[in-house]
Amino acid sequence: MRTVLIGLDCAAPEILFGETRLTNLRQLMSRGCYGRLESVVPPITVPAWMCMATSQDPGSLGVYGFRNRTAYSYDGLGVVTSQSITAPAIWDYFGEDGQVIVVGVPPGYPPRKVNGVSIGCFLTPDTTRSEFTHPIELKQTLNQLVGNYPVDVSGFRSDDKVWLKDQIYEMTRKHFEVIRYLMTNVDWRYLQFVEIGLDRVQHGFWKYHDREHRQYVAGNGFENVVRDYYAYLDEEIGTILRLLNDEDTVLVASDHGAQRLDGGFCVNEWLCREGLLALKERPDRPGPLKPSQIDWSRTQVWSEGGYYARVFLNVEGREPAGIVPMDRYEAVLDDVRARLEALPDDHGVPMRTQVFRPKDIYRAQNRIPPDLIAHFGRLFWRSIGGVGYDTLYVQENDTGPDDCNHAQFGAFILSGPRVTIRGEVEGMHLLDVAPTLLDLAGRSIPPAMQGRSLLRRNS
Ligand SMILES: [Zn+2]
Repeated sequence: MRTVLIGLDCAAPEILFGETRLTNLRQLMSRGCYGRLESVVPPITVPAWMCMATSQDPGSLGVYGFRNRTAYSYDGLGVVTSQSITAPAIWDYFGEDGQVIVVGVPPGYPPRKVNGVSIGCFLTPDTTRSEFTHPIELKQTLNQLVGNYPVDVSGFRSDDKVWLKDQIYEMTRKHFEVIRYLMTNVDWRYLQFVEIGLDRVQHGFWKYHDREHRQYVAGNGFENVVRDYYAYLDEEIGTILRLLNDEDTVLVASDHGAQRLDGGFCVNEWLCREGLLALKERPDRPGPLKPSQIDWSRTQVWSEGGYYARVFLNVEGREPAGIVPMDRYEAVLDDVRARLEALPDDHGVPMRTQVFRPKDIYRAQNRIPPDLIAHFGRLFWRSIGGVGYDTLYVQENDTGPDDCNHAQFGAFILSGPRVTIRGEVEGMHLLDVAPTLLDLAGRSIPPAMQGRSLLRRNS
């Protein structure tokens, strides 16, 4: 009895369940159950895949995004690595029974020293120079098998869409070839991989595909790229499924969904206009906000950009030049929150921004959490951290072309000999994945896991 988790980064339930060409996935759906899979806040690749693997929320992992504050200083954020995650993951439990295969699960560099084999994720630095496999010798085997093993498409935020599409297909083909090789050459008990190609396709091609996207042009030449790639993934998944037998349990899952991006909201520009952030002088042209540009003696609040905003208060006694007294912390936080929630979009319509306080949504707040997390316009808008813009709303992204944002709900399809539930299931959360898979394999659920098994919903 083996367990397989096929991770499709960014897979959207609307397409996964709605596209009729996905015959292999449809067969899997008919043999088991499926539904939307609610992601964590923020629904971002890092930490979402590791929240799924450990059944721990971002605060408990102490990982709030790709980059996190490492101290209450102003200078920069530390990038998460595989070593930032200390909680045991599902492959550690399955690894007690036999070998596991873990490929591309972010953050996966340096490669995890699992009982079995592991390969780094898209955060791996230059693969020609870095050791990104466990055991180390596996790298040579991969390179013999597929040429240079690609962990990502480098430069995927490109306007050369023909090139981008080719690169993504070439990468994904190699990934699946490696998975099939490992499945047939390792005596494994648990297999998990994450295909990042789907995320890259959707960020690169969503505006050509989604008729509600502001930049959608009817009849454009890339209209079917997103859906065709799903169909291609379905074929590759079919080849994986044919290497399994009826005793094996299969879960297909995504870390979050995908939705159109209406634009970027210049959060630090806005904080300046609100009188909460002060710059020493206004820059002549748009660019990233550097701590040295900020007049900290007149700054109460600043923010980081990205798919969502991490908002920080400049607190007296906490930040080096903090000015918000601790006894005013709650009042300032409530005020900023109310102002964020009241934001209109560029047409003057309420944006419906969601604002979260880490202490309200996480069981623990390890390391350094942001003071607030904002999903601008329910993630139809992204957060632009740069300053020097003459507007609050931009169409261009400050880190390169990007057509889509992450959606709160990803998707799952579950099938196996002990999966007795049939049809569509509601209310499944990403934190439920690890307990469900352990339960289906007849293993006990570790008490530290925060989700619950799908099999035990009514008990
Ligand atoms: Zn993702």
